[in-house]
Amino acid sequence: MPDVAQITVAPARIAELTALIRATGTETRTTVTPLTGADVATIPVSTEQDVLDAFEAARVAQRGWARTPLRRRTKALLKLHDLILTHQRELLDLVQLESGKARSHAFDEVLHTALTGRYYGRRLSRILGPHRRAGAYPLITGIRQYHQPKGVVGLISPWNYPLSMALVDGLAAVAAGNAVVHKPDSQAPLTALAIIELMHRAGFPRDLWQVVSGAGSVIGSTIIDHADYICFTGSTATGKRIAAQCSERLIGCSLELGGKNPMVVLPGADVEKAVEGTVNAAFSSAGQLCVSIERIYVHDSIYEQYRDALAERLARVSYGANADWEVEMGTLVSPAQLATIEKHVADALDHGASLVSGGRARPDIAPWFHEPTVLENVPESALCFAEETFGPLVSLYPYRSVGEAVAMANDTVYGLNASVWGPVKQARKVAPKIKAGTVNVNEGFAATFGSIGAPMGGMKESGTGRRQGAEGLLRFTEVQSVAVQRVMPVGGPAAVPKRTFAAAITVGLLLLRRFTRKA
Ligand code: NAD
Repeated sequence: MPDVAQITVAPARIAELTALIRATGTETRTTVTPLTGADVATIPVSTEQDVLDAFEAARVAQRGWARTPLRRRTKALLKLHDLILTHQRELLDLVQLESGKARSHAFDEVLHTALTGRYYGRRLSRILGPHRRAGAYPLITGIRQYHQPKGVVGLISPWNYPLSMALVDGLAAVAAGNAVVHKPDSQAPLTALAIIELMHRAGFPRDLWQVVSGAGSVIGSTIIDHADYICFTGSTATGKRIAAQCSERLIGCSLELGGKNPMVVLPGADVEKAVEGTVNAAFSSAGQLCVSIERIYVHDSIYEQYRDALAERLARVSYGANADWEVEMGTLVSPAQLATIEKHVADALDHGASLVSGGRARPDIAPWFHEPTVLENVPESALCFAEETFGPLVSLYPYRSVGEAVAMANDTVYGLNASVWGPVKQARKVAPKIKAGTVNVNEGFAATFGSIGAPMGGMKESGTGRRQGAEGLLRFTEVQSVAVQRVMPVGGPAAVPKRTFAAAITVGLLLLRRFTRKA
């Protein structure tokens, strides 16, 4: 069986990657791998001047890139798709090394990123246009809507999906004609650097995507001071600070934030399938996933059957911190993450919750590994009742009526993702009642997450803006309307008295309305 020893990256390769960071100072940070707790890389930390230099270089590159024909951008995006798939081995190793997740969950990231390149590559000209719109006068006013790039986008990404959470947004930004100044999380910069190298090979200009590194509060803040738009993925608390700073400069931002995502298991649901789905929905990437399920509402009639089947299934889950594709759950990323899970579990038990499954740290598997854990009887006073845990912890709640389940699912400050299990006809009716940006029927999150053509993002405190789909690209553009007026000015021909013109327009509009009632 493959073991940890298979997941290594040569020091020379790490040096090649870290050389892509714009950093001239002497300060460094050491990253560690959650697989073993061992040191991985010495990462140079950028100075504020490095960030300014990154913006200067990015602005020059962006001006040239915005002038390149769309077909060249398309070619680069599609070539990147191929390169990601053919170089997946190193990307999988880096994702696992930096995040500790299972191999198959690392592959989700590779796939998500490749599919994003493909989607925007194939749809770019259709989405960006220009598009004709109805003019003030039919035939006389010709109007077209253009989407101009914002300029330089500041991209701040988290550690949990070091590849796809950076690239899904960043690729849309460059596809729309922008440059990017990117600050990956300090824990996981190597994965992003490896893909940027692939971007150079795919034909993206070298300076188009700048990488800087350092503390969010220092480097992140400097990025916001100089960017034309901010794309942030991370916690709701940081997102609120970033929104405030962006509003000072009147620049736009998209914020992909936290969640406390509910699953509703309807009466008549196939319990076996719902249990199997729960394993992925709640424990993928060890629950360190923004769209992960943390609350499960199960109809009274099947509650005990579901609970017992879930406990039985979790007793058979395969754990590991290695390159085995069959491992179902990897480790948490850091001691801080482990401390949060342990705190939430202990606090819930102190408040009267009962343990259905798991509940223990497992340092024998990896230093910060925690078993997938299920609680029931969790009271409102427990931390994990409403707070995002961001780990392998779910709580079960029985319900009597579907209306009650929907109300409980919506009783949260968040609105990122939801899941409904049951007969499709019934589940389809319930899904739109849940206030979440994505709702998956008979899936946890993967159906919407993997549908690149459909927008994804949060309602309420889960964020603003959407990634994926046309919306995911258009947020990085300024809409510009260009009108061409022919034959006569909008105010009417000079030879016609204003009053006569006003009367003619009035009669014309009323007749138009009469004969085109439905329009
Ligand atoms: P975090 O908010 O602590 O950090 C995210 C990034 O922001 C890091 O790169 C960090 O260095 C940077 N940062 C921190 N303070 C900053 C500041 N003041 N200015 C600018 N940048 C700053 O979040 P995290 O703990 O790394 O990630 C976990 C959180 O992210 C969870 O809440 C999770 O739900 C959320 N998340 C959301 C999505 C989504 O798509 N909605 C995806 C992944 C993670």
